[in-house]
Amino acid sequence: MYHKSYSIDEIAEIVNTKNFIKISDAAITTLAFDSRRLGDIIHTLFFAVKGRRDGHDFVREAYSSGIRNFVVSDERNFAETCPDANFIVVPDTVRALQTLAVYHRSQFNIPVIGITGSNGKTIVKEWLYQLLAPEKNIVRSPKSYNSQIGVPVSVWGMGEEHELALFEAGISRKGEMEALEGIIKPAIGVLTNIGQAHEDGFSSDQEKTVEKLKLFNDSELFIYSPKYLAEYSGSIPGKKTFTWDWNNESADLNIIEDVISADKSHRLVKGAFSGEIIQCLVPFTDAASVENAVCCWATMLALGYSPAVIDSRIGKLHPVGMRLELKTGIHNSSIIDDSYSLDISSLTIALDFLKQQNQHQRRTLILSDIPGAGMNAGALYSQVARLLENKDVNRLIGIGTEISRHADRFTVDSVFFESTSDFLDNLDSVSIADESVLLKGARRFEFEKISKALTEKVHETVLAINLNALENNLNHYKSLLKPGVKITTMVKAFSYGSGSFEIANLLQFNRVDYLAVAFADEGIALRQAGITLPVMVMNPDVAGFDTMIEHDLEPEIYSLRVLNEFVAKLKRKGREEYPIHVKLDTGMHRLGFLEEDVPALLDELTGLTAIRVRSIFSHLTSSEDPAADEFTRQQIGLFKELTSLIESRLGYSVIKHIANTSAISRWPEAQFDMVRLGIGLYGIDSAREAGVSPLETVASLKTSISQIKHLKAGETVGYNRRGVMQRDGKTATVKIGYADGYDRKLGNGAGKMIVNGKVVPTIGNICMDMCMLDITGVDAKEGDEVIVFNDQVTVESIAKEMGTIPYEILTGISQRVKRIYYYE
Ligand SMILES: *Cc1c(COP(=O)(O)O)cnc(C)c1O
Repeated sequence: MYHKSYSIDEIAEIVNTKNFIKISDAAITTLAFDSRRLGDIIHTLFFAVKGRRDGHDFVREAYSSGIRNFVVSDERNFAETCPDANFIVVPDTVRALQTLAVYHRSQFNIPVIGITGSNGKTIVKEWLYQLLAPEKNIVRSPKSYNSQIGVPVSVWGMGEEHELALFEAGISRKGEMEALEGIIKPAIGVLTNIGQAHEDGFSSDQEKTVEKLKLFNDSELFIYSPKYLAEYSGSIPGKKTFTWDWNNESADLNIIEDVISADKSHRLVKGAFSGEIIQCLVPFTDAASVENAVCCWATMLALGYSPAVIDSRIGKLHPVGMRLELKTGIHNSSIIDDSYSLDISSLTIALDFLKQQNQHQRRTLILSDIPGAGMNAGALYSQVARLLENKDVNRLIGIGTEISRHADRFTVDSVFFESTSDFLDNLDSVSIADESVLLKGARRFEFEKISKALTEKVHETVLAINLNALENNLNHYKSLLKPGVKITTMVKAFSYGSGSFEIANLLQFNRVDYLAVAFADEGIALRQAGITLPVMVMNPDVAGFDTMIEHDLEPEIYSLRVLNEFVAKLKRKGREEYPIHVKLDTGMHRLGFLEEDVPALLDELTGLTAIRVRSIFSHLTSSEDPAADEFTRQQIGLFKELTSLIESRLGYSVIKHIANTSAISRWPEAQFDMVRLGIGLYGIDSAREAGVSPLETVASLKTSISQIKHLKAGETVGYNRRGVMQRDGKTATVKIGYADGYDRKLGNGAGKMIVNGKVVPTIGNICMDMCMLDITGVDAKEGDEVIVFNDQVTVESIAKEMGTIPYEILTGISQRVKRIYYYE
């Protein structure tokens, strides 16, 4: 076994419980919390955690997947429903997990660096990893695992082969750090920074600082910047300290100069250290990155590295690539590019994402040697082999001498190459087509070359979709629902412009109850991409009934004409009990049965066996508008009345739903049995403008500069000379125009974009494929990225400028703009 294994008896003893239903022996190496994300099943211990959802509800499912070892706080009737499984019963499963982590931590005597701060924790951790990896075999927190559960999981990753650990801790409330300190026990402490108390949910800056510093209670060495402790009056932790700051002579590392290089790609930072002037060339220019790099610089100095070594390593820092990207690949393939780092935990996460992809039958993993295994390589590749079986991988392409040596451990169809160039030279022989392909390679294998060879070249204007943000938004709305209320997610109009199966895969994985599309074609595309969730078609077309039925798509029935035609079709096909959704018109006056149509509808439905009414629904006209609340109340009242009438006549109960996004937040009494979530999923709701929304931005539209021009005052820009330079200055021509969905109303300064962090206006009329920006005074070069909208220049602000609503902006982005999907 690769990870140190604990017997199930040992674990029961460590978490100190007598309440232990033991059926059989088990050797545990892997911890799990989510029944959808399971790895090495036979060696997994499943913790039922009570969070937003109760993990106990998923014990049965984990059991069906083969899990036989559980930690629970509630026994229910698991002894009967999950026979032949071990159950460790504890009062609090998170506490038990933490206790186990404390024990595991105590088995190791290596230096541990603990990192906390308001921002930059993950970047500093990842950069320290890049900087220190040349000498040390390092274990570190996966991604940004820094919570009450994330920290124990990170510490659980410690193994005999490791020489140094890097763990981050994040807190959001008073009282949380103590537990994390007990688990991490850092000998060396790094504080990145401390932001405003309210950003993190503390009542005062002092309270927040005190809480954060608790991580370093027992540290030998504490590395920090005094500027973040200026207001703090308590004692500074650490037997020794090392400080860094800008223009502060008492700091151990005092930054005295910090200038952008001539080609604008680096920042040259000079500092006074131990009586000498030393320097570093930081390969980033934004202030946050420079500060994070200086924090790493100070840490390395404090650890005794020479300034010359540090300078050469910092010069090679690369952006923290925690995000995997889903792109369109060659020969109708989907490429998941995660070629930044490789270890077993990030491999597991990436394989989960691969498993979510239903658009192709076949899944291929291209995997390099996994660094740092050393003596344990055999056990490690056996673990990987089991993982591939559990994650439904059909084919492995292994690259590297070490993985090739362990070829016989893999049971899936596999082929091996000595090196990346060896693979690329033989690309034709492996044939990549009609499949989902995950690229997972250690840095030195330069998998970016493979990514380039396998993906379609993208036009430089891209809509980047953040799938984590979408998941976060979904969870936010789920948290507003009363128990048992189901959720339909609206994926009509190409999921409000953001994608088709890419979005549906994620929603299916997150177990929404229904998907809704506008037209049958959209539903058919989802079925062809392997989506199995029930799909409602809001605007079914009589001509498309055959294919709808073939693809198990469920129509909205809004009139007797549609009902009769659909029933006639079903009868011809001999179908019974086909699910339909009856639409009532309670005031929208678009589609649906009016109150006076209901008696005739009921006469028609009575005794009909071809269909079964799965749901009855209606649509609110103004759920977001307080001025129309009286009307909304009437709509809800009428809906209640009509549905109870229909249900009593049908003699069976149906799902009732009326609430769209704004109604979910504003009208809890309108949740009924299900809600229909649309725009909120994509990060927009009426509350967001007030800056109080927990929603995250899902879509960012980006393009780039084709040309920069220096123009004199009075010269004009673009068609009809509408843009006039008011002073000597410069313009940037960028690759987006009205054919991409950037509306002509945004010309002549109405539209704003972001160039290298600066918000700049359009100048002149918007052209079909391009437009011009006034970038006077902004540092920029041709090829630089330009942000059209994101969380700073928002879709809402653009909509307002144009006199429309965000829906129109999102759905108006043309299909020629490539979509790229990120998942962290
Ligand atoms: C589009 C649509 C929704 C979703 O509305 P949002 O405001 O985007 O949440 C709900 N119901 C119906 C019938 C719709 O057409």
